[in-house]
Amino acid sequence: CGIVGYNGYLNAKEILLKGLEKLEYRGYDSAGIAIQNQEGITVFKEKGRIADLRKIVDDKMKGNIGIGHTRWATHGEPNKINAHPHQSLSGRFTIVHNGVIENYHLLQKEYLKDAPMLSDTDTEVIVQLVELFSNEGSSTEEAFRKTLSLLHGSYAIALLDMEDTETIYVAKNKSPLLVGVGEGFNVVASDAMAMLQVTNQFIELHDKEVVLVSKDKVEISTIDGRQIERKPYTVELDA
Ligand code: GLU
Repeated sequence: CGIVGYNGYLNAKEILLKGLEKLEYRGYDSAGIAIQNQEGITVFKEKGRIADLRKIVDDKMKGNIGIGHTRWATHGEPNKINAHPHQSLSGRFTIVHNGVIENYHLLQKEYLKDAPMLSDTDTEVIVQLVELFSNEGSSTEEAFRKTLSLLHGSYAIALLDMEDTETIYVAKNKSPLLVGVGEGFNVVASDAMAMLQVTNQFIELHDKEVVLVSKDKVEISTIDGRQIERKPYTVELDA
């Protein structure tokens, strides 16, 4: 299972699909990508191989921001509905997640009451909580931090907001995730291997850190808002 994300000036689609192919060795049962452009966010997902996903991705789809996922199902059977990305009820927020949210059921009961769920995954509670807090008046960054502070378990997360075409919202706890730095673009991935196609400069992330990834900026902080300065390192490997 793995995560990739691209925010830059190129068409994200092929970079994401190639990145996911590099993560295939980690094992997975389904895969998906979300591409964002000025018109909105489009999700493609499929049970099975990346090759199967490629078949359903619209050739004409273009967007300079995107996230991708290979899933190793822990909650909810491996099928197309449970494959990531997952979207909030209104469709505004789109998420990919690796890991396990141990208290998802409790959070569902306590915060989401009888709101319908669209999948059987533990992951979906994250994106529905972001939407809930956003509807209650929080900025997306605040809603994301508030959600993260409630989660117990492991996660590598990348989140897109339809109303923000500049940012990928990223967080990590006990699941691998790195930021890759480029000229005019930035990326995220579970493994540097997935993004050596575009950069060999990476910034490590620590548990309970949040990252706002724009195309020309990477802002790292702790969940409770303390700013972090961390320099990239160079990965000497052939892609
Ligand atoms: N727990 C999540 C799910 O079952 C994520 C699994 C993963 O890490 O791929 O959908």
